[in-house]
Amino acid sequence: MLRRFAAVGVLAAVLLGPAVNAADRTGALSANAAPTESLPAATDVRVGGDEKMTRFVVDLTQKIEVTAFALANPYRVVVDLPQMAFNLPAKAAEQSRGLIKAFRYGLIMQGGSRIVLDTKGPVRVEKAFVLDATGDQPARLVIDLATTDRDSFMRAVSLETRAPRSPPVKPTEAAPKGSGDTRPLIVLDPGHGGIDNGAKAASGELEKDVVLNFAQLLKTRLEAGRKYQVAMTRSDDTFIALAERVKFARGHGAAMLISIHADAIPKSEGQAEGATVYTLSENASDAEAARLAEAENKADVIAGVDLTAEPGDVANILVDLAQRETKTYSAQFARTLVGELKATARLHKNPLKAAGFKVLTAPDVPSVLVELGYMSTKDDLKQLTSAAWQAKTAAALAQAVDTYFAPRLARGAAGPN
Ligand SMILES: [Zn+2]
Repeated sequence: MLRRFAAVGVLAAVLLGPAVNAADRTGALSANAAPTESLPAATDVRVGGDEKMTRFVVDLTQKIEVTAFALANPYRVVVDLPQMAFNLPAKAAEQSRGLIKAFRYGLIMQGGSRIVLDTKGPVRVEKAFVLDATGDQPARLVIDLATTDRDSFMRAVSLETRAPRSPPVKPTEAAPKGSGDTRPLIVLDPGHGGIDNGAKAASGELEKDVVLNFAQLLKTRLEAGRKYQVAMTRSDDTFIALAERVKFARGHGAAMLISIHADAIPKSEGQAEGATVYTLSENASDAEAARLAEAENKADVIAGVDLTAEPGDVANILVDLAQRETKTYSAQFARTLVGELKATARLHKNPLKAAGFKVLTAPDVPSVLVELGYMSTKDDLKQLTSAAWQAKTAAALAQAVDTYFAPRLARGAAGPN
């Protein structure tokens, strides 16, 4: 029953496989979701048991295949499923009982959905199976979790790691040569997606939707000027791991990566408003930047990506980065961007900041992360979801790209690459 699922490998195949051709360089990654009415659906969830043994049950419209495995740091159980619809009651995901602290669900890639259970400590997946529908009972997914100690847990996890896995992620190939298109490639990176919703407004709007919408608008805007090629790390509601976003930009020889987000802060921390532009730094410029980087870097944890094989330290990347001009270019673009946004968008009181964002760690692609505003602040949210504000702000971003690239285009070079 227990099988490790190499989500990164599969994702990489979707993203970077042979389908990436010259045509894809200019367009967004396309992967069409199956129509939801033909998909199996989850219709209800129940959690029962205590802190020794907990049972997690999902009602299903049809029988499906499942695999489940545990991850450490933090303790989680990942349940992989075929792509499905989650037609769950609004309060379903608020159930916390026994060993399960919280759970979330959603698309992890085209063709695959996932449920991630946050557990209170190390657990063993005792059983993971699907029952046939019988009489008046629907088909049911059943996951039984038992408490265990950390040593047994770590032994079990490492045993699983030795089981056969999907082929390792191939290093990304360079952008296809010979397409004749020498225009600089801008990679737009809408944050979050799929199982990872990002920040959530009190009124229900999700960061993943707001930023995708904005990135699509910005892409259209940039393409209209015909000076750049534009690609997006995601163009639909799919989860993409942080490292894959960086690989995508590097593999395509991007001249710039712009990661787009919309922040939220807990009520207890008061109010904040306006846009902020972030660059990479080992030392966060202030406590809020540190908090934000930590929150954004959690995207992989939220989606149940196994991070044990990931290179971790931003510090190590920065040593490498110090040898290159990338950091200087990123800072230069960030300053230009703040200058342009000043005229149109509300800016945060300190609009230029730095912290250890994983998505900004490409050593050869100047990268910035833009927080468009706060989903948790009413006025900001109003702007974020207003077509007029989006158009104005996309225009300001496009202008900053123009200002940054103008001298480079005049010299006949696409930038630092
Ligand atoms: Zn975000």
